[in-house]
Amino acid sequence: MSSPIPSTRHPIIPIRSLLPELEGLEAAHKVQVRSVRGRFSRLRLGLLLLTQLVFLGLPWLQINDRQAVRFDLEAQRFHLFKLVLLPQDLIYLTGLLVISALLLFFVTTLFGRVWCGFACPQTVYTQLFIGLEKRFEGERHQRLRLDQAAWGPQKMARRGGKHLAWLALSFWVGLSFVGWFSPMRELGAQLLSLNLGPWEAFWALFYGGFTYLNAGLLREKICQHMCPYGRFQGAMLDADTLLVSYDAQRGEPRGKQTSKSSGACVDCSLCVQVCPVGIDIRQGVQSACIGCAVCIDACDQVMDKLQAPRGLIRYASENGAQAARLGWQLARPRVRIYAGLLLGLCLAMAWGLSQRDELRLDVIRDRGVMARQVDEGAVENIYRLQVVNLSEEARQIRLTLQGLPGAELVGSSSGSNGSTEFRGGEARSLVVAVRLSAPAAAALRLGKSGQGASSPIAFQISNGLGEQVEEPSTFVLPR
Ligand code: SF4
Ligand code: SF4
Repeated sequence: MSSPIPSTRHPIIPIRSLLPELEGLEAAHKVQVRSVRGRFSRLRLGLLLLTQLVFLGLPWLQINDRQAVRFDLEAQRFHLFKLVLLPQDLIYLTGLLVISALLLFFVTTLFGRVWCGFACPQTVYTQLFIGLEKRFEGERHQRLRLDQAAWGPQKMARRGGKHLAWLALSFWVGLSFVGWFSPMRELGAQLLSLNLGPWEAFWALFYGGFTYLNAGLLREKICQHMCPYGRFQGAMLDADTLLVSYDAQRGEPRGKQTSKSSGACVDCSLCVQVCPVGIDIRQGVQSACIGCAVCIDACDQVMDKLQAPRGLIRYASENGAQAARLGWQLARPRVRIYAGLLLGLCLAMAWGLSQRDELRLDVIRDRGVMARQVDEGAVENIYRLQVVNLSEEARQIRLTLQGLPGAELVGSSSGSNGSTEFRGGEARSLVVAVRLSAPAAAALRLGKSGQGASSPIAFQISNGLGEQVEEPSTFVLPR
């Protein structure tokens, strides 16, 4: 007999019956990724650790009492371990960018979007943020349930904890980014004493906010709708490129293994649940696929459980078996062209750097101060010199004058015309006067038959270790 009093308790709905709704919600709002283990997931984790060790750790590394790697924009110098690059060395930075681009084309031609799936900062930080999300909100099914749950203390604590952790990580990423340009150790000390400079604080918050937005909130939408590289990568692929692919011939018809004609795919949807962009690889190669290969790990797990051969989802190409051979891949014309260009550029860069002078000198004749007549008919010209010690060590640099008999250096803004100590990597401006004695000036005028005569001269700097650099200029007589 049924009770006359209506029940006030909510009916108990099995969670399984909610799943379709949860799946619908997920599709509409965000992708909740299921964790998976396997060789490609381990590779991704290894690359995550490596890239973050470089990005977060390198600014802390010191060499000879200074930051080992730093873009010092104020002094216009780039310190790369023992190398000091100046604006004039832009060619090397350009070369580095060209090599990086060629490397990207090279690996994309061979393996599709491996950069996107394994090493792109967007992917790496999304992975890190999902790891933190998992700590606070649990595995995929728990996160889906939490999405559906009404707001209460538990949901607030979990969500709040996750966002605080995301914000802390984002700020640390932002500060580390600033540390590539400003001394990292000073930034750390300033942060501890809550005394961060306004510009440093602005850029740390700006870049940190960017990380929080991209990796925490937008995630795969950046790859799908905003990243330009994802759009033009198609031009680098061909029928031999190895891409993450589903073997439809073997997998279909999918479903329960009821007969011998059943395909190998049991339709467990694990490959979809682990996909960070929320696509189904069984629908064919798609432009949204970032090539992370975690669906290979997921499907391999399923095949292992079923004691079936792995590789229902695997790296494959349109040309099938032929493309899988390393020899064939290396024989492809575009692979050879990229490899040749890469090798040539790397060799040229290495040669250029090995031939680079330790000293650098630029000379500008001061046009604001005209050639002037001084005591007893002698003539003076003023020059502005930029002297740079590109070595890591301090050097005694000596400045001398060549090419004009009777001319001498009479002083500079830094002292005498003798040796001056330059710290490792130091650049200094010197203002020097060149004085031509009265008889030499008269002889020059006579030789040039008239007023406004001029003569070539050269400034030379040497470091006492056999290195010397000469820079030509002109000495003029007053009209
Ligand atoms: S389909 Fe596979 S390789 Fe492509 S993004 Fe999804 S999980 Fe990664
Ligand atoms: S993981 Fe493998 S078996 Fe499961 S649905 Fe995907 S392709 Fe089919």
